[in-house]
Amino acid sequence: MPAPECEHDLPAERLFFALWPDDALRHHIVQCRDTLAVDSDGGRLVSAENLHLTLAFLGRMDIRQRACVEAMADTIQCRSFELQLNRFGYWPRPRVLWIAPAEMPGALISLAADLHAGAGSCGLKLDARPYRAHVTLIRKLAHPPQNANCPSLIWSVDRFVLVRSRTLPQGVEYEVLREWVLGEESFEG
Ligand code: ATP
Ligand code: MG
Repeated sequence: MPAPECEHDLPAERLFFALWPDDALRHHIVQCRDTLAVDSDGGRLVSAENLHLTLAFLGRMDIRQRACVEAMADTIQCRSFELQLNRFGYWPRPRVLWIAPAEMPGALISLAADLHAGAGSCGLKLDARPYRAHVTLIRKLAHPPQNANCPSLIWSVDRFVLVRSRTLPQGVEYEVLREWVLGEESFEG
């Protein structure tokens, strides 16, 4: 007799909240990356369509947990904001080269913090390390580049998305499942 279905059998998916560049910004990020003086054994380039900025990594979740985080995301209050990607960095342990804003806009800090707190209220245990906003450009890069110099990339952020991540033999595949549009930018300071 087949085992009765129980909630532990719900299929799980690996999900995360992210900022998702439009095609023009993806193109500019790739152009900027192409100017970097990296070694010829230049690591694994993140494909243009996979470039993103993670807001909150949720990990494996079933459909019930997903419903909870989606309902939580519906309640997020955040204005549109501008992000300047103008700082390169390299993490030696994962050998990751990234680009990030030198200054974190308050709206980005609150958005990420609210999503982390909201995910916690859905019973998820997120990574406790401090949040480090970044866009990964190259993985498994043996040495940081000699120079990293391109004009600051301006990102007008007016939405955030929920993404499913799947590891396939040919590499990771991301699929945007839903998006939430942010409020109009306030000009009152
Ligand atoms: P792969 O793991 O197949 O190499 P990936 O790291 O891009 O690819 P995921 O592991 O699904 O794919 O991660 C999705 C996003 O969430 C990436 O931006 C990744 O850096 C980030 N991420 C993954 N794990 C964590 C974590 N524990 N804390 C914070 N961010 C994470
Ligand atoms: Mg990973």
